[in-house]
Amino acid sequence: MVHNFNAGPSILPHTVFEEASQAILNFNNTGLSILEIGHRTSLFEEVLNEAVSLVKELMKLDENKEVIFLHGGASTQFFQLPMNYLSKDKKAAYMDAGVWGTKAIKEAKRFGQVDVVASSKDRNYTYIPKDYAVPHEAVYFHYTTNNTIEGTQMHSIPNLSMPLVADMSSDILSREMDFNRFAFIYAGAQKNIGAAGVNLVVIDKKFLEKSSSTVPSMMDYKQHVSNGSMLNTPPVFAIYVCLLTLRWLKKMGGVAAIEKINQQKAGLLYDTLENIPLFHLPVAKEDRSLMNAVFTMNNEELEKKFLALCKAEGMVGIKGHRSVGGFRVSMYNALSLSSVEALVALIKDFGNKYA
Ligand code: PMP
Repeated sequence: MVHNFNAGPSILPHTVFEEASQAILNFNNTGLSILEIGHRTSLFEEVLNEAVSLVKELMKLDENKEVIFLHGGASTQFFQLPMNYLSKDKKAAYMDAGVWGTKAIKEAKRFGQVDVVASSKDRNYTYIPKDYAVPHEAVYFHYTTNNTIEGTQMHSIPNLSMPLVADMSSDILSREMDFNRFAFIYAGAQKNIGAAGVNLVVIDKKFLEKSSSTVPSMMDYKQHVSNGSMLNTPPVFAIYVCLLTLRWLKKMGGVAAIEKINQQKAGLLYDTLENIPLFHLPVAKEDRSLMNAVFTMNNEELEKKFLALCKAEGMVGIKGHRSVGGFRVSMYNALSLSSVEALVALIKDFGNKYA
């Protein structure tokens, strides 16, 4: 039995793997593979339309939102967004709360003025900045809802007057949120939505109107929207895996139901770690992520022992990111409570032995 705690690409529901495998061999009893049908066929159009409508349903989006699937992963949005909205005389505000936010800031600076209004770099990104002011002329405010590497998560939506832009790559569809408050949401699919190779973008129609029309076509949001995610050949298989995962989520009871399970999983793990002095939780308690739990030990030899034990017990992907060290346990939607229970049992045994 393997317990997959990888940070991304990461665990997907087993039924999704089965259905996706079947579709590679024989898609919907057509005698064709999903990999060989044209994207402009009604077969694929149905896939895309259902995926878009499931996103709208699960996120409870209003009629002012457009949903598109784009290539290039979340990192492409780091530059595509400012390419569309910034220029030398325009400013955007950014929060710097982790590695991914820092990368987004770097790319935005290529296109216009960037005001980093809040940062938690001073304490190695172990908390979410709280008190900050955003200049009213900012054309948008950008932040990362969940910092995958550092294990912090914003538990409320900032109350600001300018358009809100969020990188939700590592916590999209994992908890209830008023997604309609955002002008622009993007998320690489490879954690909670599906397979790597595609990016989900939700864009408010008014914000869309303000996007540039002089950027190259493939960077032009309006063209992607008016062509229904088919400005060119979309990543057909990756979108199909998204559809299967979205169907699974709906069957599970949607976002509210999965949030409950996510809280149970994270609660169990954090409670366990808090009660064993061997382990150290670097993240401010109120900012802990439900998706990625980061912890360390202050003994390198013991850390190695623990990692070896996890490996022997089929616990995969818990080594921390090289910039943080220690351990990172990712608990995305498809990870079952029983996997966290198995890890917790191991942690307790280890604690008893070495405390
Ligand atoms: N933002 C966040 C929050 C992420 O976790 C990641 C990837 N782990 C990225 C952006 C980059 O995504 P991609 O590799 O799809 O470009």
